[in-house]
Amino acid sequence: MRKPFALANWKMAMTLAETRAFVTAFAPQVADVWERVDIVICPPFTALHTLAQALVGTPVQVGAQNLHPGPGEAFTGEVSAALLADAGARWVLLGHWERRRHFGETNALVNRKVHAALAAGLRPILLIGEPAGWGGDPRDALAAQLERVLADCTAAQVARMAFVYEPEAAIGAAEPIPPQRVGAGCGFIRAWLAERFGQAVAQAVRIIYGGSVTPERAAALLAQPDVDGLGAGRKGRDPDAFARIVRQIAEQCVQA
Ligand code: PEP
Repeated sequence: MRKPFALANWKMAMTLAETRAFVTAFAPQVADVWERVDIVICPPFTALHTLAQALVGTPVQVGAQNLHPGPGEAFTGEVSAALLADAGARWVLLGHWERRRHFGETNALVNRKVHAALAAGLRPILLIGEPAGWGGDPRDALAAQLERVLADCTAAQVARMAFVYEPEAAIGAAEPIPPQRVGAGCGFIRAWLAERFGQAVAQAVRIIYGGSVTPERAAALLAQPDVDGLGAGRKGRDPDAFARIVRQIAEQCVQA
């Protein structure tokens, strides 16, 4: 069945020295479980290559936090999917609420990025979640996002992706949303994928929760059905806290 998934999004933090120190502290704490969990760390662009080098010899993978969909190279200051892959990235975060809110990213732009990632061999990690202050049924917001960001994707392409249920209000908050809502959100994403792309794809993809995850809260979140792991921002930069989260995922999300 599905291999559990652990994600760290370092956002706009972590120097090269901090990156190396993170790996030195983190790796030994998860070495006995890292074959059982797909662990993906997404550093800032500046630390991609350094992180990839520091992780050589481990199964821990590197992801980017964004890309420019191109085509071409006349986009000063931007980074293409091909350059990210060359620097060691295997995955890329797409659709994060901080990019939607601060940079005006639309579902249509996220969709272009999805196709650019796939064309370069990068695996999209799609962040799906209702906006802060959403008054309606969260399922309507999730369905609208899924419909548009996955436009023109084949079932085989979707099978290579991972999904994060991450409501905007849960990002950088004091605590995660209630576990039952986490289970409902992840379950809805899986049901939507089954309806659109078939049961085989829906049962194959990893769907995790992100939003103010802590080691203390991990067990309750992971106890929900359809939750294949967790993603962490702040706690993803703390090697001890992230190691505890990874170990909890390895313990609770047993691959069938
Ligand atoms: C995030 O950036 O995706 C995130 C969930 O951050 P935090 O864990 O700090 O809330």
